[in-house]
Amino acid sequence: MTIPDINKLTIHETRDLLDSGQVSSVELTKRFIERIDSVDPSVKAFVTVSSDVAIMQAEKADKSISQGKQSYLTGIPIQLKDNLCTKGILTTCSSHMLKDFVPPYDAHVTTKLQESGAVLIGKGNLDEFAMGSSTENSAFYSTRNPWDLERVPGGSSGGPAAAVAAGECLASLGSDTGGSIRQPASLCGVVGMKPTYGLVSRFGLIAFASSLDQIGPITKDVADNANLLNVISGYDQRDSTSIKTPSIDYSQALDKNLEGFKIGIPVEYFSEGVSVEVEKQTYQAVDILKGLGADIEGTTLPHTSYALAVYYIIAPSEASANLSRYDGVKYGFSDDVDGTIWDGFERTRQNGFGEEVKRRIMLGTYALSSGYYDAYYLKAQKVRTIIRNEFSEAFKKFDVLMTPTSPTTAFKLGDKLDDPMAMYLNDIFTIPANIAGIPAISVPAGFQDGLPIGLQFMAGSLQEEKMFKAAYAYEQATEWHKIRPQI
Ligand code: GLN
Repeated sequence: MTIPDINKLTIHETRDLLDSGQVSSVELTKRFIERIDSVDPSVKAFVTVSSDVAIMQAEKADKSISQGKQSYLTGIPIQLKDNLCTKGILTTCSSHMLKDFVPPYDAHVTTKLQESGAVLIGKGNLDEFAMGSSTENSAFYSTRNPWDLERVPGGSSGGPAAAVAAGECLASLGSDTGGSIRQPASLCGVVGMKPTYGLVSRFGLIAFASSLDQIGPITKDVADNANLLNVISGYDQRDSTSIKTPSIDYSQALDKNLEGFKIGIPVEYFSEGVSVEVEKQTYQAVDILKGLGADIEGTTLPHTSYALAVYYIIAPSEASANLSRYDGVKYGFSDDVDGTIWDGFERTRQNGFGEEVKRRIMLGTYALSSGYYDAYYLKAQKVRTIIRNEFSEAFKKFDVLMTPTSPTTAFKLGDKLDDPMAMYLNDIFTIPANIAGIPAISVPAGFQDGLPIGLQFMAGSLQEEKMFKAAYAYEQATEWHKIRPQI
């Protein structure tokens, strides 16, 4: 049969089509592969399309469905960001360093998706080693924003957000160290969320900054997002930061009634640099949420302005340690044919890493070096604690905090490439949640000149249910999430 508008389908709508036998997973998967063939030459959201594996998994899923053994993701085509390990399938981190790397094992989330019967359709493009906010730092090519191909999709999970927005898959998983799920979700008009630090195992996620990295879902709506978190969350002994918490069905939190629900609006998130339209849509959201019964009040998080500085000391410091493993000896690219082993290390790293990655390694090495450690790294850790405490205090009073996700809509390719500081400022509203380790979600909240705007809800540690509740109530009271790019 012909499936209407596959680019518009959510997972829950597709579930109904699969369960009622209107379409098989094999037919669906083939349709998505065709869609990728037709739009990805212009969007460039994929590094690898795993068609053969996808068809095999779809056949298996169809068998499960015919036996009535399906769950939420059985037969559903999903993409993974290309820093999540997939056994036997190229995992490049969009870096020359790993351009031929085929992992011998699966990431924890890859296994979880497989166990739930999902179909792995391919791997999404990213800024090299997840460092960036536009996907222009990919060593291969820049991903384009499906709403305007001359603009960036955001980053670093630009491939995943663009693929979901362009209807090349039904969902994707990204990683978020300082905003890499939420900022591209905002710029591409989809839903992206970063869970509490420790809720989703990072086993098999190629590390960037280990005290900040989290994996989370990118979907077309909040219900799909909550259901995908159900599948990937939970304790895993292979990640030492994994939290042992009772498992929760997040879909139970999806409730439109906000009577008595307390929302705080921190003034610091309406600073200079926020576009007028972004500010307008955020204030309009206040009215909508009030109409649903929420109790909304302004508040202040005075140390917010230090979050970006803290991030750009801690993240590069951890990156410089994590990326020391790429020496050309153990795995990945190697340029050690001539000279001493030291020459080999130097050339491998010189030629294997791109400019931004090298910039971060140098920044981090500097911040950790003797004589500067106390002034930079230690100071940053202390300010991190202050920021964390400030959030804890705020969540004694409020169920969630609401802010814009990104100060502006998608910018033109090349616009910020020569100005790292301008690029870093993109994540000014998303970084605080990583610093504090708390959950945060971005939902579509309108348009400016045809480009999507995103709204962010943050909640206290392990309070994902409150975050989903607010996001869902807002989403259901608006139509933004239903509008898809013409591509
Ligand atoms: N854009 C931020 C950076 O460049 C965040 C990246 C991320 O969350 N992976 O570091």
